[in-house]
Order: sequence, then structure tokens, then C-alpha cells
Amino acid sequence: MKLRVALTTTDLTSLEHKQTLISSPSGMEIQVENEQRVKTVTLLPGQSVRVSPDGESMSVIIAGHGRFKAARVVAGPRKAGDSFFIDSVRRPRARGLERAEYRGHELDVNAVNGRLRLILVLDIEQYLTGVLESEVPASYHLEALKAQAVAARTYALNPRISHEKDNADVCDSYLCCQYFAGHKAVTSAKHMQAIEATTGEILKYGTRAILALFSSNAGGCTSNYEDCFSDPKTNFFPPAPIPYLKAVQEKLHGAIELKHASPTELEAHLKEMWQSKQHTTFDSWSPHFKWSVQIPAHSLEAHMHHELSLLLKDKESAPFVIPPEGGKFGHINKFSVTKRGVSGVAMELTVHTSTGDWQIRKELIIRSAFKNPEIKLARLKSAKIFFEHQHDHLGLLSSLTVKGLGWGHGVGLQQTGAQGMALAGKHYRDILVHYFTNAQIYRIGS
Ligand SMILES: [Zn+2]
Repeated sequence: MKLRVALTTTDLTSLEHKQTLISSPSGMEIQVENEQRVKTVTLLPGQSVRVSPDGESMSVIIAGHGRFKAARVVAGPRKAGDSFFIDSVRRPRARGLERAEYRGHELDVNAVNGRLRLILVLDIEQYLTGVLESEVPASYHLEALKAQAVAARTYALNPRISHEKDNADVCDSYLCCQYFAGHKAVTSAKHMQAIEATTGEILKYGTRAILALFSSNAGGCTSNYEDCFSDPKTNFFPPAPIPYLKAVQEKLHGAIELKHASPTELEAHLKEMWQSKQHTTFDSWSPHFKWSVQIPAHSLEAHMHHELSLLLKDKESAPFVIPPEGGKFGHINKFSVTKRGVSGVAMELTVHTSTGDWQIRKELIIRSAFKNPEIKLARLKSAKIFFEHQHDHLGLLSSLTVKGLGWGHGVGLQQTGAQGMALAGKHYRDILVHYFTNAQIYRIGS
């Protein structure tokens, strides 16, 4: 089964490329299409093709062959399985950012609004080797890697955000879909084993592939879908619940009743988990299980004010930031979480300022509101948070300590929890049905 993956720019935020340079150590076949005519050029090993937008079409320069005008360019390796490089896209490798390397059927280049759109066409199983390499270390237990392979394969078939308008199935950025940072020169044998042992397996609920969300660490309990995400079509929050994306506890022994707990009781539970010295959950072995960050009040005020005004200007985020009457952001007195999901995740945060209360809603928006370049913070690691306020001799806020559990949204499968379960002897099928309640494993084509 072939998959179309839209490649993002180096910062992973955009599908629009200014130009591109493609080459392969073993040579390539390049098809330049223009007004029903197709010209095929063979590139020698190491030779490159440069494509730039030119109005509504593209300009193509092929070393040794000249310059062409094109409506579409399709570049493929001469032998299936050979790798090729895109110099204009950089991805993390052992020594830092390097030109992106891919294997696959072909790269489809088109002009869209004066920029280039790059779509990699490859077999879904080949795509999965890149996703597994990008998402989980090969040192993980094989059963955890197998669970991740099935979840990632399922996600590719049913992503949360549709890329139909981009003429693709998924994109390669973790900010939107799942992370696919290209292919490494040599694929790890264990990643390959996890993919091959689960070939074609996906998760279904009823007759459809599930929305197989996953994150790194859930901080002792995963979250309900409706406590973290808005509806992808209407942006309404909270959206309709999804029956298989339910909060599950990661307790090694037994479980506790959290269903009807108040925000205060849930906060007390988070504190207890944070302070506990013992490993009591599948995911507490991970360094991402708990964290804390301290922010001086003056820096917090300046950057949060700036971030909130940016969020208010963004069409998608604006409905989740509610300013007080007058719309001023004064001196911060206090933070309080006024609504929590069953896992303790913050659904609504109130920032009490001298000019009134600001309300911030939804997991990712709450995390993003704390962006602070001064302390190199892109966003909080999670929204399972509680606060400690420090005051000066006048009783004014001098700094804030945010303490938190987990890394990521915590909905669906969590990678460190899957590893904990695998180490405790669980099979990948047990891991998957633990995180995706009542979903069924199904083999495509069977
Ligand atoms: Zn995407």
C-alpha cells in the first residue's frame, strides 16, 4: 500500500518550500512535465536537480542538461530501495541537523501559490521504519516497539487532521501528525523486526481504523480525548468523547477512583504522585514522568502577555483565550486551575491579574501560554500541572514554580508506559488494548 507524505520545512511548521535540491548517490530518473509533454532525464550518481518556483509553474535546472520550465517534477531513485537526499530540508541526525535522506518510490514536486510542495510517495511499511526511528529508541523492548508500529500504521490511515487538500495522506511533522524525520542510512534491526512481526496490522473500532493518538509520557494516568482536544472540524471544546480514547491508570498494582473527583482532589492526587519516591506506575521510570520549571514574575508577565496576544490573533487559538472586561493584562497575582479532566489534566486555567481574570482553555493552549524564550521554554511539557507561588517582602509574586507530570498530551498510547508494560511481561496486543479501550487488532487485506 502506497502512502503520500507531505514534507515540511526544516522547522517542521510549513508545507511550502522556497526551493529544493535533490540528488542520489546512485543516480535518479527525473520526469519534467509541462503542457502534456513529459521529458525524462537520467541523473548520474551525485548529480543534482534544482527546482524553484516560477510564477504558477517551476524552473528546473539539471546539471549537464540545462534549464526547463515545468508544471510538475517527479524524481525517483534508479533502483527501488536506493536512498536520495533533499538538501533544502534538514533533519536531526547523530551529529546535529543534516540534509534529509529518504527511500521510497518517488518525490512529487508541484508549485502551489508561488512555493513548492514536496510529496514523498512510499510504501506504508517503508514509511513506518522512518516513523519508528523518529519516535522510539531501538533500545526499547520489542513488544513496546511492536505496539508503536501498529499504532503508527493505524495513525497513517486515519490522521486527526485531513491532508486531502494538500494532495497527501499525512505530513511528516509531530506538530500535526506523527514524526517522520526521513530514513537513516542503516535501519535498526529491532525497528525492522517490530514492523515485520506486525505487517499490515492496524487497530479498528467497529468497521473503521481508530484515531491512534500517542505521546511520550502520561504522568501515571492517560487522559480522555475530550479533556485535551477540540473537534477537528468545528474547533469546539470539549468535543464529543471517543469511546476507545479513555483515561486509563498506569498503576502497577490496583487502581484508585478518580472519576468523580473535584479539581481540588485531582490536584492533591497529582501532588502525591509528584512527591512519591517509589515507582508505582508503568511510566514512572521515565525521566519525563515529573518535571518542574521556575519562572521569575517579571519575565512571566512580559512573555505571557505577548503569547496571549499572539494566541488571540490566531483564528484557531483565539476562542480558547478569554480576556477580562477591558482586555488588559495586569500584574499577575496568582494562577489557579479551575477545571481538570479525570486524569488531572488542566482544561481551564485562570490567571488572576491586577486588571482582572484571564481564562485559558485546552491542553495545548495552556501549555503554549507559558512560552518563554528567556528561559528557553517552547511550551510546558504537559498540562498535568500545579503551581507554587513565591512572594517578596511586600507580598507580591516574585516567581512561579510550575510542577508537572508527563510529556505530551497523554491521550491514547504512551511510549514510556508501553515500555514499562513490556518490561513487566506484557504482549504488544495487551499493551494496545490497554491504551485503546475495546479496539480490535485487524490485518489489512485479511
Ligand atoms: Zn499533518
